[in-house]
Amino acid sequence: MHGQLQDSHGRVMRDLRVSVTDRCNFRCLYCLPETEEAANFYRTRYDGLRNPTPANPPANLSTTPIHREWKPKSEILSFEEITRVVRIAVDLGIEKVRVTGGEPLLRQGVDRLVGSLAQIPGVRDLAMTTNGALFGSQAAALRKAGLNRVSFSMDSLDRDNFRKMTGRDGLEGVLDGIRLARELGFHPVKVNAVVIRGMNDHEIPDLVRFAVKQNLSLRFIEFMPLDSSRAWQKGLVVPGREILERLRGEFNLQPVDASANPSETARRWRLEGSEGELGIIAPVSEPFCGHCNRLRLTADGKLRTCLFSLDEHDLKPLLRGGGSDEDLASLLRDRVQHKEAGHKIGQADFVQPQRSMSCIGG
Ligand code: SAM
Ligand code: SF4
Repeated sequence: MHGQLQDSHGRVMRDLRVSVTDRCNFRCLYCLPETEEAANFYRTRYDGLRNPTPANPPANLSTTPIHREWKPKSEILSFEEITRVVRIAVDLGIEKVRVTGGEPLLRQGVDRLVGSLAQIPGVRDLAMTTNGALFGSQAAALRKAGLNRVSFSMDSLDRDNFRKMTGRDGLEGVLDGIRLARELGFHPVKVNAVVIRGMNDHEIPDLVRFAVKQNLSLRFIEFMPLDSSRAWQKGLVVPGREILERLRGEFNLQPVDASANPSETARRWRLEGSEGELGIIAPVSEPFCGHCNRLRLTADGKLRTCLFSLDEHDLKPLLRGGGSDEDLASLLRDRVQHKEAGHKIGQADFVQPQRSMSCIGG
């Protein structure tokens, strides 16, 4: 197979995020909130912040679950189909593969998929992003199957706030998962925290102290308009620069030189007195689209060339209709050619994608 995945802006794709399910056992407010009331929690909270008098919540707030439909199983790619697409993408230059979702550990037998992906020659880095709730029962099998790295999402160290943000009483489970990942030799173990003004920004220093103590890589992520409730507001985003300012007094942060890898999403700092590391991912306030080398494959077999793509390219007709590897490679090359120059958050013509982060695969 010839060629690499290069777009019309000269960017070469090296990183593929593979979503294995659109389902999730958590209901994070910024991704897949459970009820209209939950979806509106930070809207009213933010109005309260802007306005010193308590905001009046919209009268029609409801605790009825938000209606959502999962994709039927028949539309979800099988492990064989996923492995085939990844093998072809790796032939075309992809080196890093991240298994994600929805919650990837909800997909039965995901360690078998990890095992198949780990065997593809050319996969240099195989990682997973998880909310950690089901990690304990699957960790050893994943490690054995060849998973190198794992990132846990943990937005709060306070049990009540964790529950508010994720819709689940799951803090202890994630902490156990992090401990186990370190014991099993996953390296590095990363923790991702989405920061939302008025919700968990007061926990920024606590989370860094935790990373220092536990020698973890911590990533703060700016809240992006990819929530199913479409409640995102710019005022809820805590810009990366502000996060850094809030930490400078307490922590001695030594910048990590990332010039060798300009496609990295995080700006990074070493945390003095620890093997831990701080990263800030600031796609809203400091977009890094110019160096983007990422592609996404959704659980239902759609190729996305950008988190914020407004169109997706279905690979299933070729996968299930007798298309050859070369047909699939041509489609990948062609779609990558048209990769968007960048997202338009904050611009007048920004349009939020139809699907939320849980469907796209973060
Ligand atoms: N369920 C897994 C988890 O939460 O780790 C994997 C999928 S989740 C969609 C992947 C990552 O996307 C998580 O780290 C999550 O915090 C992040 N994410 C979800 N919605 C987001 C949003 N609106 N803005 C920024 N990050 C978001
Ligand atoms: Fe589920 Fe992850 Fe989205 Fe939270 S961020 S709702 S855990 S997919």
